[in-house]
Amino acid sequence: MKVLLACDFDHTIINDNSDTWVLQLSSDKVPADIRSRYDIHGSWTDYMDEIFKFLHSKGITPEQIINHMQKIPFVDGMKELLLLQAQSQSVDCIILSDSNKIFINCILEASGLLESIGAVYTNPAEFQENGCLSVSHYHKHGCQLCPVNLCKTEVLQNYLKTCRENGKVYDVVVFVGDGGNDFCPCLNLSERDAVFARKGYRLVRKIEKLTSNKKSNLKPEVKIWESGFEIKSHLESLLK
Ligand SMILES: [Mg+2]
Ligand SMILES: [Zn+2]
Repeated sequence: MKVLLACDFDHTIINDNSDTWVLQLSSDKVPADIRSRYDIHGSWTDYMDEIFKFLHSKGITPEQIINHMQKIPFVDGMKELLLLQAQSQSVDCIILSDSNKIFINCILEASGLLESIGAVYTNPAEFQENGCLSVSHYHKHGCQLCPVNLCKTEVLQNYLKTCRENGKVYDVVVFVGDGGNDFCPCLNLSERDAVFARKGYRLVRKIEKLTSNKKSNLKPEVKIWESGFEIKSHLESLLK
């Protein structure tokens, strides 16, 4: 049995939104013109790029950002889930996230979990020479359901295709998420797979809306989760 654990990051592995968390570093409110620009260009990633410039203009350093990100709490049971997959030869884990590479790497590195993650697919980010963080879109895609910078279906299906071409076939994909942008990949999983949607969050509502229509043909089994322990138990039952 070979299992791929595909996880979202914000509000799934960590119990907050990394993008809004970083704003706690500024005692000043985000100026209205930056906020309104999000409404105009409609890209959260571009908005965050402006937020990083704003934080830089307030004298916030890379060290402050990194230290602050490492304080975000994990969701209950998520460290245990990631440790289980790290110890199991039968489970690989990838992360699909609309956050950015700097945040995810520094958070997972601080808890010693980064090395166990097979791949992190997220928006590229870097600190520029002047110390200002910049972020850009992960890719271009034509999916109408997803934000312009990232379609998790495209990433996940490409990943699985590359694995197959290299002779690695997963029997089961376990997809774990909470948000609206986790909906698209659920539509493209098979009957063998499982979707874990976080209780009380947007993904559950989107799935419920879809499945209330009797003609919907959502193939994977859907489970509602509250902690990483439930997902860990599911993996353990698959591996028995
Ligand atoms: Mg999320
Ligand atoms: Zn999509």
